[in-house]
Amino acid sequence: MSPLAISATDRVFVLTGAGVSAESGLPTFRASDGLWEGHRIEDVCTPEALARNPALVWDFYSKRRLAAQRAEPNAAHAALADLERRLGDRFLLCTQNVDDLHERAGSLRLIHMHGELKKSRCEEECGRPPVEDGGVYGSLDEVPRCACGAMLRPHIVFFGEMPLEMGLIQEEIRRATLMLVVGTSGSVYPAANFVRWAGLAGARTVYLGPERPSNASAFSQIVEGRAGEVLPELLSAG
Ligand SMILES: [Zn+2]
Repeated sequence: MSPLAISATDRVFVLTGAGVSAESGLPTFRASDGLWEGHRIEDVCTPEALARNPALVWDFYSKRRLAAQRAEPNAAHAALADLERRLGDRFLLCTQNVDDLHERAGSLRLIHMHGELKKSRCEEECGRPPVEDGGVYGSLDEVPRCACGAMLRPHIVFFGEMPLEMGLIQEEIRRATLMLVVGTSGSVYPAANFVRWAGLAGARTVYLGPERPSNASAFSQIVEGRAGEVLPELLSAG
């Protein structure tokens, strides 16, 4: 495998997905059986679930927090942080993952489009910003309250909710000359559309993952492999 050619004028937009976290041992939602750690998505990852059974939703996300705290960044996270050090502000990383493994590997220019496990926010949308909260709660009584008195909820984009920072993401994709998509199946929208937006803006588009994505035809180049094994070589300075 030869390293990706990245010139001094390239602007690189990277999208990472569940496959990158999975290589650090964090289990992901599997479309094959529709379950995530034994739960149906609609029971733990929707606004309706939060309204119906907040204790179950908080229990689920408390366990996700605990698992993420115990996981370590892998070679793919490290390779992306290295690339950012080379490119500076010509680099942006957008992740669908809610863990903090990219930050812990050293990434700075980072957008969490699906939210962050380590934060909570007001359930009533009172306007206060998300707060740092890595708490693991055994019962609903332990969950802190917003300053307005309402319950806090995980700062996670549930199914059926709008991803975060879409305006900034679209602007950055328009400016990018190279898009690299790593470890995401190409079936979750709007992220699955990013490659088309980048292609329309004239960017090269490269996919890396263990199998061909469902939107493979939209890419200029497909690289099949595990991110932690392939990315360090693909992103080496050559
Ligand atoms: Zn509030």
